[in-house]
Amino acid sequence: MKTHAQAVVIGGGVVGCSVLYHLVKLGWRDVVLLERSELTAGSTWHAAGGMHTLNGDPSVAALQAYTIDLYREIERESGIACGIHQTGSLYLATTERELDFFRSEQSKARHLGTALDFIELSEARRLNPLIETTDYRAAMFDPHDGHVDPSGVTLAYAQAARNGGAEIYKHTPVTALTPLADGGWQVQTPKGDIHAEYIVNAAGLWAREVGRLMQCELPIIPMEHQYIVTNDIPELAALGREIPAAVDFDGAAYLRQERHGLLLGTYEQDCRHWAVNGTPLDFGVELLPPDLERIVEPLDRVMDRMPALGRAGIKRIVNGGMVFAPDGNPIIGPLPGHRTAFVAAGVMAGFSQGGGVGLAVAHWMVDGEPGMDVFAMDVARFGDFANPAYVREKTRENYQRRFILPCPNEELPAARPTKTTPIYDLLHDAGAVFGAAAGWEVPLWFADSPANAVEAPSFRRSSAFDAIGEECQAVRERVGLWETSSYCKIEVSGPGTAEWLDALVANRLPALGRVTLSPMLTPAARVLGDVTLVRLAADRLLIMGSPFAESVYLRWLHHQADGADVHITSRTNELCGLSLSGPLSRELLQSVCDSDLSNISFPFLTCRELSIGRASVWAMRLSFTGECGYELYMPPPYQRHVYELLLREGRRYGLKQFGVRALNSLRLEKGYGSWGREYTQDFSAAEAGLERFVRMDKARCIGLEAARSQKEAAPQRQLRLLAIDSTNPDPGGGEPVLCEGNAVARLTSATYGYTVKHSLGFAYLPAGIGPAETGLEVELCGTRVSARVLQSPPYDPTGARLRC
Ligand SMILES: Cc1cc2nc3c(=O)[nH]c(=O)nc-3n(C[C@H](O)[C@H](O)[C@H](O)COP(=O)(O)OP(=O)(O)OC[C@H]3O[C@@H](n4cnc5c(N)ncnc54)[C@H](O)[C@@H]3O)c2cc1C
Repeated sequence: MKTHAQAVVIGGGVVGCSVLYHLVKLGWRDVVLLERSELTAGSTWHAAGGMHTLNGDPSVAALQAYTIDLYREIERESGIACGIHQTGSLYLATTERELDFFRSEQSKARHLGTALDFIELSEARRLNPLIETTDYRAAMFDPHDGHVDPSGVTLAYAQAARNGGAEIYKHTPVTALTPLADGGWQVQTPKGDIHAEYIVNAAGLWAREVGRLMQCELPIIPMEHQYIVTNDIPELAALGREIPAAVDFDGAAYLRQERHGLLLGTYEQDCRHWAVNGTPLDFGVELLPPDLERIVEPLDRVMDRMPALGRAGIKRIVNGGMVFAPDGNPIIGPLPGHRTAFVAAGVMAGFSQGGGVGLAVAHWMVDGEPGMDVFAMDVARFGDFANPAYVREKTRENYQRRFILPCPNEELPAARPTKTTPIYDLLHDAGAVFGAAAGWEVPLWFADSPANAVEAPSFRRSSAFDAIGEECQAVRERVGLWETSSYCKIEVSGPGTAEWLDALVANRLPALGRVTLSPMLTPAARVLGDVTLVRLAADRLLIMGSPFAESVYLRWLHHQADGADVHITSRTNELCGLSLSGPLSRELLQSVCDSDLSNISFPFLTCRELSIGRASVWAMRLSFTGECGYELYMPPPYQRHVYELLLREGRRYGLKQFGVRALNSLRLEKGYGSWGREYTQDFSAAEAGLERFVRMDKARCIGLEAARSQKEAAPQRQLRLLAIDSTNPDPGGGEPVLCEGNAVARLTSATYGYTVKHSLGFAYLPAGIGPAETGLEVELCGTRVSARVLQSPPYDPTGARLRC
């Protein structure tokens, strides 16, 4: 066995083999895979092998399409059959909500280039004559989908990787992982040790155990998952062709043909975790005891719609462990705190996602960045809030809701509330409707009373529409208050701070008492971060940003800190926030504060310490709404006092509380992009229009070299703000933008602009499409509405209101 390798992949399921294959493909030859047993010996061997493109997240859907397309290639490269049955999939809707989801997904599919489309129910019955279609309202068909042979795929990845120089050692369990002074790892096995520069935890059912070898608790857990295989069905045998796979959302079941019978799996409400505290190390190529009782209800529902299934009788029941993360997406990427230790786990749809996961992880290792926006799968999307209890509650919910199609305005109830601030009860009493952001409860909008704080899930304008409009109006005309505690606040301090941080952010660092906005770039000048920098002292800065970005930023900062004389600390839990915004915000704040707040002594983009009532706060003069505004940060014990004081004094100024939905509308009217939507690793700083924040003349900074060379050529696409003529529904992000009928982009974020009285959306449009273009449309739930590119933001384009 080798004693040194550039990378050691731990686990020979479909995911580990895909990572190995992609590493070789990207040019790493000195790579090894260690498998404790035989390849496929975890979840992989008993999977149903179904593959689908459909996914609510466009980045994940794109990786799924990539995975499916890869199968023919690895067959060719390896000479091993993957058992590809590209039968297509039927998606069957019984409710209006499912129908709206279908319309929305069909629209989104236009930009992805997938062939998902509605078909007549009569056509669905022609494709699958076993279905009684009376219950169904609509059907969609995706010809891309189907199923593969799980073992064939895994062995094909493995062989193709071996052909490129990779080595695979079976019956070689990893028993210890020790970090080495050179940044690599000592990988211990009973057959000897390997010194690895990089390791990848792809141990599937045992990924938690491998994580624990390095004192890392991964936010995943196995669920029991069952499918049945029926005896032969004479109608199928007589058909002479294979029927498409099918998903019955109302029945919470999927099925496909298995020889002359059917394979049918369910996502039942009465679900079970398995191996809660850890997967037994001696668990072999085994199944779990079947428990038909728990899946009878969904089975019955599908049998009503497919009577031949009920007549066939069950030949086999498979119950296996299926690993879930809290939101059902994989967990991939470098582990926070370990620059050379990667994870590729929690993949509960390995045959739809395994190829894309392997590609992204391999790029991340080889290039230092994944090369695309993978936040939806990034292990760092889970911060301190995702403890084992949270993981159990969310995975149960996720399993139960696997086929309950989400609405854009829907907030899921499990594991709520997790993180609350000292004013949570007061916000609730004021009518706040909360959403969850990185574990925090954040007000989305305010009803006129707690009793009215409800909103039905919908793809259309909801009952909150008018209330959000009133919040926007208050901010534009008077003053609004919103809670900013969830925003990420990372403090960097120590003698090396200025020099070190200057090489990580693209803009210049602010002077003492000043605030600067800056992108953080990847080595290829893609947008990794969009942060607010606050200079608190010569060697002490605060980095602020989106709540969702905190763990991503912390990981990036820690991984770049090798040898630097800096301390990096999250202050998010220690600093609560309140923000005032609107033309009367200065007068209101001045009424509770003795310092001079005039524009001359406290101008835009500065910060200072203020006494607000009996509290000392850090005040920053900035705002995401486009109005004059202040963000106030204070230790949690003071937040209630400041909040109550501002509310009481605010009555004189017509103060109104507002939530994230109003904020979204206000910031789009101002043309402000947002991290995770406009600013992601899918796009470069130049494409994102962030070049003005990139100081090309800096001596050194990550991504600067690439940004300089990108400057030579005009970007192929450019972030543009569109005015969209929607009435109802309004766009919410993800919808395709069409030019002369062809999908050219998707909206990154979008919403109704209450001040300008039309919808707005951002999109990365091909460079040639500008304000003169007349053939633009946006497709909303199947209906096309016209759109036009705006030359400048429709609200206060000069920023006069912000700076006054
Ligand atoms: C009943 C059922 C049906 C399913 N149907 C589908 C489907 O239709 N479509 C789909 O896409 N997905 C399906 N899945 C999910 C699919 O099985 C998983 O997504 C996939 O198998 C995950 O692969 P993996 O490589 O991450 O993990 P695993 O298959 O669990 O592989 C992990 C490997 O790591 C090895 N290992 C563990 N610890 C060590 C160690 N210390 N040292 C060395 N090696 C180690 C294990 O032996 C194992 O081989 C199904 C799952 C179940 C349970």
